[in-house]
Amino acid sequence: MYPELSLYINGEFLAIESRRHQDVINPATEEVVGHLPLATLEDLDTAVAAAHRAFLKWRNSSPLERSAVLRRVAELARQRAPEIGRNMTIDQGKPLHEAVAEVTVCAEHAEWHAEEARRIYGRVIPSRHPDVRQLVLRQPVGVCAAFTPWNFPFNQAIRKISAALGAGCTIVLKGPEETPSAVLAIAQLFQDAGLPPGCLNVVFGVPSEVSSHLIACPLVQKISFTGSTAVGKQLAALAGSHMKRITMELGGHSPAIVFDDADVEAAAEKLANFKLRNAGQVCVAPSRFFVQRGAYNRFLRRFTDVISSVRVGNGLDSTTQMGPLANQRRVAAMDALIADAKARGGNVVVGGAKYSRKGHFFAPSVVTNVPDDAMLMTCEPFGPVSPVVSFDDLDEVLERANKLSYGLSSYVFTDSAKTAHSVSTRLEAGMVNINHFGSALAETPFGGIKDSGIGSEGGTETFDGYLNTKFVTQL
Ligand code: NAD
Repeated sequence: MYPELSLYINGEFLAIESRRHQDVINPATEEVVGHLPLATLEDLDTAVAAAHRAFLKWRNSSPLERSAVLRRVAELARQRAPEIGRNMTIDQGKPLHEAVAEVTVCAEHAEWHAEEARRIYGRVIPSRHPDVRQLVLRQPVGVCAAFTPWNFPFNQAIRKISAALGAGCTIVLKGPEETPSAVLAIAQLFQDAGLPPGCLNVVFGVPSEVSSHLIACPLVQKISFTGSTAVGKQLAALAGSHMKRITMELGGHSPAIVFDDADVEAAAEKLANFKLRNAGQVCVAPSRFFVQRGAYNRFLRRFTDVISSVRVGNGLDSTTQMGPLANQRRVAAMDALIADAKARGGNVVVGGAKYSRKGHFFAPSVVTNVPDDAMLMTCEPFGPVSPVVSFDDLDEVLERANKLSYGLSSYVFTDSAKTAHSVSTRLEAGMVNINHFGSALAETPFGGIKDSGIGSEGGTETFDGYLNTKFVTQL
């Protein structure tokens, strides 16, 4: 059974009662599976006040105490992964094995923050005078407001919560209304792991109403958002007007560059499978495929073979390799990208349309002959549609890859160390993956540059956005 949905404020799960609510839809069947309460402004104020009261104690908690809670969360997450994953497949659509893996892999985020929380060091600055002692202290910023999206509901939320709590902050998190089960499961994990009431609060609501209220709230000191660049810019502007610090993990349109000295068939297979993870609804999905002319035909043949053989269906079916898109908006977006590409001379080699069955299913698609100014090459696709184009040399492909305002991830396949060195230096992206996929691990920094965001999550950088730097000088 899909779980009862609620808000989680000051350690209590709150049902709909007299609140407004929103239906939660299974994207594979279009059936209503649950009813989600939407927070009132009073609920938001209660959550912030609880987070602030909790902060006054939690900021003084020992790193060992914070670490113990995060470790216990990781342990419980692994135990509950089958159930949390199943509910995530029901409301988000991804295949069950991907949903369960999201939980087990992301348990590592809680563990990583448990480890790093014990290493939040300051420093001693050698002073100009022997009687003066100069220290740099790092202190938690306070109450954080976070906003997480529907594509990786468990992953995005546990990262932000672990970073805030590990640093000694407390948090009010607005989860994704369309895929709420995983975030509520996280609230239960933290409660069962012994987190004091008020340290973590989970709300849902009308996004613009919740964000404008929380960001303006004087007790909220920090804003963290993962989602589209358009919304990120709005929230960053609002945060700026209140002088609040931000972490922004935004959209991307990641180039995948395949040089003709690479193992071309292997690159095609790896990229095709990686592209269709979560039906392409991944901010770091490879989404503009540039293949050097000498390798183009071989790449396209293998890439298209893999893409067209993927089994699409309900994520709960064990044979499914790609589920539905998470909502109708993504299906409409795929239609618009394909129509624009065709109007500009693009050739749909495989797929190109939604399925006629019930559910938000769109065929994995490959489009060739797409000009660089087509929507498919300039707007983040966030779906299972891949443009494959050719290039001649390194300078040309770097200019084309760097042309967009996005700068999130990038992928390069080459056997040449010289080429690898050159592209990793010159690509304008927060992450460069060469000959494999290695981003998004707990111990590695994750984040974009340019319009793709500000700040990093994960790695040793992870607490930077949640700590104030205080200088102390003493005679
Ligand atoms: P959208 O721009 O309406 O929303 C994106 C996310 O922001 C959603 O989670 C939404 O609930 C939230 N949101 C929207 N308005 C908000 C507001 N005023 N305050 C706070 N949160 C708000 O688009 P969408 O149709 O939900 O998603 C599609 C686009 O979002 C994609 O094209 C993709 O670029 C982007 N996206 C990116 C990520 C990521 O991981 N970077 C994740 C999900 C979606």
